[in-house]
Amino acid sequence: MKKQRIIKTGILTLFLSLVTNPIVQAQTKYSKSFIKKQKANVETLVAARHKNTQVMVDKIFSFAELGFHEVASSAYLTGLLQEAGFEIVYGVSDIPTAWFARWSNGAGPVIALGSDVDCIPKASQYPGVAYHKPIVEGAPGHGEGHNAGIPLNITAAMALQEVMTQNNIGGTLVLWPGIAEELVASKAWFVRDGYFDDIDMCIFTHVSSNLSVSWGQARGTGLISVEYTFEGEAAHSAGAPWRGRSALDAAELMNIGWNYKREHLHPLKRSHSIFTDAGDQPNVVPSKASIWFYLRDVTYEGIMKMYNDANNIAAGAAKMTDTQFSSRVVGTAWPRHFNKVIAETMYQNIQKVGLPQWSEKDQTLAKAVQQEVNSDTTNGLATALSELGKPAAYPVSGGSDDIGDVSWKVPTVTLRFPSNIPGLQGHHWSNAIAMATPIAHKGATAGAKVVAMTVLDFLTQPQLLAQAKDYFVNVQSKETQYKPMITVDDPAPVELNTQIMQTFRPELEKYFYDETKYDSYLEQLEISYPTLKKD
Ligand SMILES: [Zn+2]
Repeated sequence: MKKQRIIKTGILTLFLSLVTNPIVQAQTKYSKSFIKKQKANVETLVAARHKNTQVMVDKIFSFAELGFHEVASSAYLTGLLQEAGFEIVYGVSDIPTAWFARWSNGAGPVIALGSDVDCIPKASQYPGVAYHKPIVEGAPGHGEGHNAGIPLNITAAMALQEVMTQNNIGGTLVLWPGIAEELVASKAWFVRDGYFDDIDMCIFTHVSSNLSVSWGQARGTGLISVEYTFEGEAAHSAGAPWRGRSALDAAELMNIGWNYKREHLHPLKRSHSIFTDAGDQPNVVPSKASIWFYLRDVTYEGIMKMYNDANNIAAGAAKMTDTQFSSRVVGTAWPRHFNKVIAETMYQNIQKVGLPQWSEKDQTLAKAVQQEVNSDTTNGLATALSELGKPAAYPVSGGSDDIGDVSWKVPTVTLRFPSNIPGLQGHHWSNAIAMATPIAHKGATAGAKVVAMTVLDFLTQPQLLAQAKDYFVNVQSKETQYKPMITVDDPAPVELNTQIMQTFRPELEKYFYDETKYDSYLEQLEISYPTLKKD
């Protein structure tokens, strides 16, 4: 009797899950040969879109917009997505340039495709020219290569739309931008505000010099970005200096205090600061001064310990100078953890797609740039694929990316795609040189193929998504629980970079790429590719 009831309940549960769970329903829907055929199909469709990809990559490069000011970039990209039938939410998390775009082909997995879009201060640079030649002197430029990632994602999404509609493959695609990634100041806000709540998995793309993916704790750090502001009393610096209390003295002492602290930081930790307000002129004792820190470590706990230490040092500096201090969190990034199942699935597609065929001109440019910046790497562009990245035996320090916060919310990987030259220092004009040339265009097409094929894998094989979620819940999140570094009230610091963009936007606008007149941005700028340094 008891046994019968268990069987009955079992059958009922199975029946209910078949009816209510599209994932289970879909389990037998797609044959291996169908999946193989559609993956080949989507790869061909991405290749056929190469011209569109080139135009998008060149357009975003020419806009050269800093974080929170991706106005032209966001208007252009959302325009394309709207035309393709995506529904768009603008002004996400009270960030004017942020948006989420969604297109659905019925029940199925909800897969997000993200990438950054902002650029780097003072990195303006002619593409295809192997030495420092700014388009606009002192202006921002794509010296990180964030101009190629969203064009890659859009290319993949549009190829997927064709395959999904023609073959009735259910699922939803959500495209979104990493706004102000260089300030690590949007993704934690998107997570906090629920934009990933109904998303099953996320594929993030980031420019690199190879086609690669990794799983487990990523090499590099997480960080908290904090600005400390001191307030004192102004006075005539010569007439009555004894009546002044210098906020700048406090900011300087905080910096000195932190630099003493630095000796006792574990080598995995990294920190850097700039003064954002150091007074107005020497004859006025500064009543206000600010210093801005990035505090990095490989664990959340380590980051928060540094934050606590910095607060103590700020309090000490205020006490020494009889000033007051306040602080605000302006950016956060969790250390990244990437999904094993998505990475392994993606790596099979990476092997199928392989690296682009570089021309002799591409290689000549790459080698000349490597020589120009005295790189250790001198053999040009990558011609052999990287291995699948696995967790390092010991944590490795380095940079951060706020995709970390997303990676603790939903199963996530970052596809690194080969649109740039190996061996450059990063955040530098040299990193912009390749980013509106055939190197960037081919790298984005290769990446778009991998993304489209991987999305198809997860749309058509629900067991893969179940395994990815199992890794996320039972392995990744087993010992570590995500705690946001921002509170519910912290606004994104959208006013940052305003002055720089006000200064340079009118000049930059003169160089926006007009695809109706010129085949490529190189053509518009009258650059013969590649241009090497004259002896
Ligand atoms: Zn980046």
